Amino acid sequence: MQRELKQELISLWIVFLQEIGMPKFIIRRAMGITPLAMHILTERAKMTRALWLKVMWRDNWVCYICHEGRRPNDPFEAEHKIPLFRFGYTTLENLGCAHKSCNRKKGTKLIEQQILYPFLKQTKAIFVFLFLAGLLLLWIVFQMKLRLG
Ligand SMILES: [Zn+2]
Repeated sequence: MQRELKQELISLWIVFLQEIGMPKFIIRRAMGITPLAMHILTERAKMTRALWLKVMWRDNWVCYICHEGRRPNDPFEAEHKIPLFRFGYTTLENLGCAHKSCNRKKGTKLIEQQILYPFLKQTKAIFVFLFLAGLLLLWIVFQMKLRLG
């Protein structure tokens, strides 16, 4: 669960960097991730509650894998027909309404985890580095103020 939250935060961070105009390859180099991991993280961040609802209403709340309706204790998920790890996109066409259990049977989540896990440790190190760099910068500014004042 905690790992999922981390991935979410990193996804948002990557999307933010893209929004402010940083080229993709620089983000990839800086975070030490593969193009595939980058693709998974950015596409996952595009999944919103509104998009989920759109998919559900389009598919009339029927699972596209087992063709059954709602079941208790088995929530619907918007599933990627072409999985993210096969460079599928988070678009209305590529999403399908599916039970959580039907989705798990496809087993793509597991593969995604294996792809994403190695670099998460690395990004942690980068965040620590950025924090330390920030502290150093603050210290330098403070020193300069003392000298000037
Ligand atoms: Zn199903």
